[in-house]
Amino acid sequence: KLHNTILELKGNIRVFCRVRPMLADDAPGADATVGYPTSVELAGRGIDILQNGQKTPFQFDKVFEHSATQEEVFMEISQLVQSALDGYKVCIFAYGQTGSGKTYTMMGRQEAAGLIPRSLKQVFQTSQVLAAQGWKYKMQASMLEIYNETIRDLLLMKSSEVGGKKYNISHDSNGNTNVSDLTVVDVTSEFEVSNLLKRAAQSRAVGKTDMNAESSRSHFVFTLRIVGVNESTEQQVQGVLNLIDLAGSERLSRSGATGERLKETQAINKSLSALSEVILALGKKEDHVPYRNSKLTYLLQPCLGGDSKTLMFVNVSPDPLSVNESLSSLKFAARVN
Ligand code: ADP
Ligand code: MG
Repeated sequence: KLHNTILELKGNIRVFCRVRPMLADDAPGADATVGYPTSVELAGRGIDILQNGQKTPFQFDKVFEHSATQEEVFMEISQLVQSALDGYKVCIFAYGQTGSGKTYTMMGRQEAAGLIPRSLKQVFQTSQVLAAQGWKYKMQASMLEIYNETIRDLLLMKSSEVGGKKYNISHDSNGNTNVSDLTVVDVTSEFEVSNLLKRAAQSRAVGKTDMNAESSRSHFVFTLRIVGVNESTEQQVQGVLNLIDLAGSERLSRSGATGERLKETQAINKSLSALSEVILALGKKEDHVPYRNSKLTYLLQPCLGGDSKTLMFVNVSPDPLSVNESLSSLKFAARVN
C-alpha cells in the first residue's frame, strides 16, 4: 500500500450526512399543517431533528448542509477514491429514503456531476500521472442492480435479456469476487465508462416497465476493478472501487403494501438490515460476520471488512413531512457509525 489515508485514523467506516435543499414539491408550510415546529438543524458535525417539541441530536464524521456543492462533497472523498488506486477495496454507499438525494449524490446531473463521474475522472487522471512513475493499470467495470434479492446485469448488449439469467457469486482466496456470466468490460478512459453508465441507465429504465419496478426499489452497484503493476519496481496492487446507490429506505410495509410491492419491500428491508448487521459485526470485530444474509453483503464481502474502507452517505430530506423517515435514516446511520 503506497499512501496512508485519513481513514486509518479511526476504524474503517465513516458516515457522512448530507441534507438536500428544499424543493418546490416539498411542503414548507407543513409546520403549520402538523401544528408544531418540525425541522432539521445543522451545526458542525451535528444534525438535530426537531419534532413534537423534542430534539434528537446526531453526530457524524461530516455533515453537509443543503448548500454544499458536488465539488465540496467530492473533495471530502477524493482521498478515499485515491486509495482504490493504491490497492484498497473501497465501498461508498448512499443510504436514505426515496427523494433524499442519493442519486444526486452518486450520479448527479449533467451540470452538477456526482461522485461516480468525479471519481472516474480522478481515477483515470491519477493513473496517467502514476504512469510516469512506471505504473501500468488495467481497469474493469461492471454494473448491476439487485432487485428482490436477484442480480440483474445492466451491461448486457440486449437490454431485453436483463433479468433473464441466474448469477452465482463466488470469492477466491485473493479476495476477488466473481459473478458468473456478469458482463465485465475492460476500460481505459472516463469516456468509455460514461458510455457504460448510459447503457446501464437504459437497462434500468427498460427493467422498470418490464417488472413494474422503479429504480428506487433496487440497489445499484457500480464496480471498478483496478490492477496496477509497476514495471520498474515490480510492485503490484489490486484495488476495487464500489459505488452503491441503495434502494430507498422508506418503510413501505407500514403503508399497507401488498403483492409485488410487499415482496420488494421485504427484500429491501432484509438487505438493508443485513448491511447494518455486517457493518456492526465488523465494528465490534466479531468472529462471525453475517455476510450471507443478503445478496448485497455477500457480493461485497471482500470489500467490507479486512483493511477495506467503507463510507456511507446518509441522505436526508429537509421536508417537514419526511421527518419520521429522516429520523429513521439517521438512527440507522448512527448505529453503524
Ligand atoms: P433519491 O435518489 O434518494 O431518490 P434524488 O437524488 O433523485 O433522490 O433527489 C430527489 C430530487 O432532489 C431530485 O430532483 C434531485 O435533483 C434533487 N436533489 C437532491 N439532492 C440535491 C442537492 N444537493 N442539490 C440540489 N438538488 C438536489
Ligand atoms: Mg435515486
